[in-house]
Formats: sequence, C-alpha cells, structure tokens
Amino acid sequence: MDNYSIESVRENIRTIIGNIGEACEKYGSEKKTELMAVTKTVPPEVVNWVFSEGIRLLGENRVQEFLGKKDSYALKENDGISPEVHFIGHLQTNKVKYIIDDIDMIQSVDSLKLAQEINRLALAHNKVMDILCEVNIGGEESKGGIAPEDTISLIEQLAPMEGIRVCGLMTIPPPVDSDIYFGRMAELFNKIKDRNIEGASMEVLSMGMTHDYLNAVKYGSTIVRIGTGIFGRRDYR
Ligand SMILES: *Cc1c(COP(=O)(O)O)cnc(C)c1O
Repeated sequence: MDNYSIESVRENIRTIIGNIGEACEKYGSEKKTELMAVTKTVPPEVVNWVFSEGIRLLGENRVQEFLGKKDSYALKENDGISPEVHFIGHLQTNKVKYIIDDIDMIQSVDSLKLAQEINRLALAHNKVMDILCEVNIGGEESKGGIAPEDTISLIEQLAPMEGIRVCGLMTIPPPVDSDIYFGRMAELFNKIKDRNIEGASMEVLSMGMTHDYLNAVKYGSTIVRIGTGIFGRRDYR
C-alpha cells in the first residue's frame, strides 16, 4: 500500500463524482451515472477505501486476481449501501465456475457459448446472473466483444435463458473519436430497448473510462468504469 494515499483516493473520487453530477445536469440525464471503481492491481485494503466515499460498484478484470482478493473486500451492507462486484474483463468459458457465486454481474459476455455456460452454472447454483453484452463498437481486431450488427440476434437468443438476466450493453471504444463510438452505442442501446425483448431489461449502458467518462455521460452511460482516475497510474510505479 506504500504508494497509495487515502487522501488522494478520496479526493479523486469526490472530484469525479462532482464532474459526473455536473455532466448529468448539463446533458439532462434521466438517471445519475454511477461510478464503478476498477480494481486491477490495487491491493484490497486500498480498494476498501472507496466504500466510505459512497462507491457501490467494483470492477474486476482477472479471475485469478479476484479470487486472491475477494475475501479481503468489505462487501457487507453498510449505511444502506450493498456493494456489488462486476466482472468486466475477458472471461474464458472454463473459468465461469470460479466466479459464479461471488460476482453480481458479468459485463463482458461476448458469445453464445459463454452465455450458455453462465446460464448452466447459474441454474445449478440457484441464482440468476445479471449480464451485459460487450460490444466491439470500433470493430477492432485486438478487442473482445460482439460485432454491433450481431448484437440484437445474440440478445434474442440469451433473453429466454432462465439463469441469466440481460441488463444491457458494455463497451470499450477505440481511444480516439469517442463521440462517434459512444453515439453509435447509444443508438444501438436504444434500438434494442425499443424492441422490448422479454427477458432483456436493457437498463444498463456501461461505458466510459478515465480518459473519456464525461463524454460517455453525454451519450447516456449509466455506469462509468474508472481505475487510473481513482487510484493513480499503477503501471508506472
Ligand atoms: C482497466 C479497465 C477500465 C478502467 O480504465 P482506466 O483507464 O484505468 O480508468 C475500465 N474498463 C475495463 C474493461 C478495464 O479493463
């Protein structure tokens, strides 16, 4: 924890929440965008600092890292806030079994095969798993996610599955021209929402990171996922 300071983490969170609030007002958002703390490489003791600032959502990228940290997270309900842990990284089908009990939402569902395994295990564990479909909105080779044009048909296949609840979409857009890509995501999201597909509530649009979160708010993001902006630039320590 040497390189982390509780004061700066708190100040970063307050600043970001303030900026989100202003942006929501400016752009007339119906619902206030929620801030998720992305925890990769951050020690659990440091991650726990975020709860006192009202953050409710943690984002996990790696199965192995999460399993090592989860028992140290302060996830008990506190002051009426129930923390949730969402899986946001690439998830291999054979790893679903390790996280099925401890994760509240899987945001990175990008294939029928992965969804079928989540559905199977959720039913076996007596739960319904909330999921988002990850969309590769920039069509980048290097990124996971389904092609925008395949998204509706995938959601129509997932919606009837009883072990999963399709709550919306997630994306990591290309690093430049985010207006274009967030705009396209908003369009796709609203198009699917307007179809009123039974079993697909479409209330979550997860997009925006440290460098582009205010732009994401402008296009209707309901969850921004921020790591560097809260904890600092860990890779260069
Ligand atoms: C790391 C990560 C983030 C946060 O990125 P920052 O630039 O550190 O804010 C958000 N979403 C996903 C999927 C990530 O892997």
